[in-house]
Amino acid sequence: MGNTPPRIEINEIYCKGCYICIEFCPTQVLEMKGVVASVKNPAACIACMQCELRCPDFAIKVTVSTDKGRD
Ligand code: SF4
Ligand code: SF4
Repeated sequence: MGNTPPRIEINEIYCKGCYICIEFCPTQVLEMKGVVASVKNPAACIACMQCELRCPDFAIKVTVSTDKGRD
């Protein structure tokens, strides 16, 4: 298939551990690690962007790979 999963970056400085991203993620990609959110299962990410949109602290960034031409 050659599908690259989206890249999920969590800024641990901004994250306040509010659980919103974890609650809204439909595929359980995220989990709490200590006091900050962490990526548990990146392969399950469907790039719905809910985590990025709902994070009140702009601590999550999801980047979808667009290199469709490559394999
Ligand atoms: S929604 Fe944002 S601030 Fe809240 S736990 Fe997730 S990354 Fe951290
Ligand atoms: S983009 Fe959607 S599926 Fe991916 S981690 Fe965020 S909420 Fe979960």
